[in-house]
Amino acid sequence: MTVMPAAFLGHGNPLNALERNRYTEAWRAFGQSVPRPRAVLVVSAHWYVQATAVTAMPRPRTIHDFFGFPQELFDVRYDAPGLPSLCAEVADVVHPMWVGCDVDSWGIDHGTWSVLRHAFPDADIPVVQLSINALKPLEYHLELGAALAPLREDGVLLIGSGNVVHNLRGVRRDMPDTGFDWAERFDEQAKEVMLGDPTELGRLDAHRDYRRAVPTPDHFLPLAYVAGVAGATGTAAEVLVDGYAYGSLSMTAYTVGMTNPPVAAGAAAAALPEGPPPDGANI
Ligand code: ZN
Repeated sequence: MTVMPAAFLGHGNPLNALERNRYTEAWRAFGQSVPRPRAVLVVSAHWYVQATAVTAMPRPRTIHDFFGFPQELFDVRYDAPGLPSLCAEVADVVHPMWVGCDVDSWGIDHGTWSVLRHAFPDADIPVVQLSINALKPLEYHLELGAALAPLREDGVLLIGSGNVVHNLRGVRRDMPDTGFDWAERFDEQAKEVMLGDPTELGRLDAHRDYRRAVPTPDHFLPLAYVAGVAGATGTAAEVLVDGYAYGSLSMTAYTVGMTNPPVAAGAAAAALPEGPPPDGANI
């Protein structure tokens, strides 16, 4: 079977699930360019828990893990099948690191469906999520990503879904398509690492803008899995699409192991809903 690429997609605000803009077009072009996978294994910022687990239910539910958004977003379902047997395969390939099989707690969260709805709109490819273990340091996530790399030879497409820069307290509605200086500095430094030597990703926590760009690690860590795959295969990443939203979010996406499709110019990332700032809104 063809070796699958891996990708990190910057998902931004959940309304990107419903819109078409230059980021969603990039995710769509990505989905159309990859060989058809046997399964998609997604590391989403929104399954950030105190354990390393893999979803193992035959029909994972669509999870709407946010509030303050229009009903239309709560009505979205992404009814892709699961692939319960993949949990044992993941456990084997990452041994002696440990992963548990989750049969009834999680499903497909919006970090996953907001991008897969564009990349694989037919929802006919099995989707499995891997949790981010909040108890572990960044090096663990790089190592786990590297350990997962062999699954690419067996038809598994690994996708990390988060945002390199993600500071909800800092969002500015009057900056829909630009970033603050500090956000751009950090995103550019991350780019240098990903395009140069992704195994050095752990060094970014010493960057002067790290605390503002990564106030909590959940949206940043999915990148470590893709950096881990890149490191394990001696391949640098390539930029699929890049840009900023609301000053304090970067929408940058990377792939590893593929020639990226061209991405046409297009609209800015989805607008935030009206109302109070999304502090604590889990997006
Ligand atoms: Zn998010």
